[in-house]
Amino acid sequence: MNLETTREYAEHLDRSDLLSGFRDQFSPGEPGLIYLDGNSLGRPSLATLDRIETLVRKEWAEGLIRSWNAGWYEASCRIGARIAGLIGAGEDEVIVADSTSINLFKLAASVLEARPDCDNIITDDLNFPTDLYVFEAALNLSRRAPLKIVSSRDGISGPVEELMQAIDSSTALLSLSHVSFKSSFMYDMESITRFAHKQGAWVLWDLSHSVGAVPINLGDCGVEMAVGCTYKYLNGGPGAPAFLYVRRDLQDDLHNPIPGWFGHNDPFAFDLTCLETKGIRRFLTGTPPIISLSAIESAVEVIEAAGIEEIRRKSIAQTNYLIDLCRKKLFPLGFTLKSPESGARRGSHISLGHPEAFRICRSLIEEKKVLPDFRQPDNIRLGISPLYTSFAELYDAVEHMRAIVADEAYQKYSMERTGVT
Ligand SMILES: *Cc1c(COP(=O)(O)O)cnc(C)c1O
Repeated sequence: MNLETTREYAEHLDRSDLLSGFRDQFSPGEPGLIYLDGNSLGRPSLATLDRIETLVRKEWAEGLIRSWNAGWYEASCRIGARIAGLIGAGEDEVIVADSTSINLFKLAASVLEARPDCDNIITDDLNFPTDLYVFEAALNLSRRAPLKIVSSRDGISGPVEELMQAIDSSTALLSLSHVSFKSSFMYDMESITRFAHKQGAWVLWDLSHSVGAVPINLGDCGVEMAVGCTYKYLNGGPGAPAFLYVRRDLQDDLHNPIPGWFGHNDPFAFDLTCLETKGIRRFLTGTPPIISLSAIESAVEVIEAAGIEEIRRKSIAQTNYLIDLCRKKLFPLGFTLKSPESGARRGSHISLGHPEAFRICRSLIEEKKVLPDFRQPDNIRLGISPLYTSFAELYDAVEHMRAIVADEAYQKYSMERTGVT
């Protein structure tokens, strides 16, 4: 690909962008800030800010406890059903509850209980660390074999062949991140799931870095389970509860390992023994965080209005454009691409490698009003959220990185890491 490298060309791409109008539906935030972290914490839409205001001032302050019967009690399932539309699931196959980490535990522990003859869980080393910690703990508690972690050869692409070789009849579960948080590599969900099924393994996909950015069809692929964050491309807000999917035919045979009253057949009977309800609701545990749960609904509406296919189309155009600019302007300065070359195998962020990645990030944040993020040991992640990221912002971010390295402006920063990166 050979795209032009002028700012005028970036502006031209913005003018011909069918989704450009959606940017105005988001809170503008600080003027001039280039936000490239939508894959970590999405921006709030204006509708979401209104929703939170109404929720707090009207539903909570005025409605008080009555609001539980005016939409709060059903919110976990109602909003789960909305998310189901983005991931190719049935409306009765998804709930919103707890964090992604906790949902991973619930699902992994329920599989290990349901499949006593299978000894292990397989994953890869591109997965998000919390997933690995949770699986190790679930295996440990049920006194099973240690987690099998298959390594990527280059730290960029998923070890597809090695995973295939590792799966056998003792595998209870294969669990992978659909899109890797570091390199942005995206697995072919359909072929991996089918292969695992042939070996008798169940599959749990972590959709945290793909939902809202990539079309997903769990139903067509026959996937057993999935989880995902709502505060990344779904723009649900910091710590918004996660979603959890279980294929309909499995729901009544699996048990929630943390069976609280919200998963009871009749919570308000205050029965002293736990009678699990049927269906996906049994994976609920306790009272949901209603304020952040409600914010997800209006956030998903914006994505529905834009259309996930259109979002994906723009995301590929933007990652291609960004990589092309980097190749021309940054690679000669020691940057490398740490994401897949092929748009089809990539999510919506790009990772660049540079020996001074950490200090370049500091300089971008402190001096250039560009917010990327840094991932160990030498990755700069540039997240593209097509609903509000413009081509001109990508152009400007690359120009700032070029200038920082060409002028060695990063030299004045210390190498010491503090707080959230
Ligand atoms: C962001 C992310 C998480 C985070 O989990 P929390 O429980 O919300 O902190 C987990 N898994 C993946 C793949 C992620 O990208």
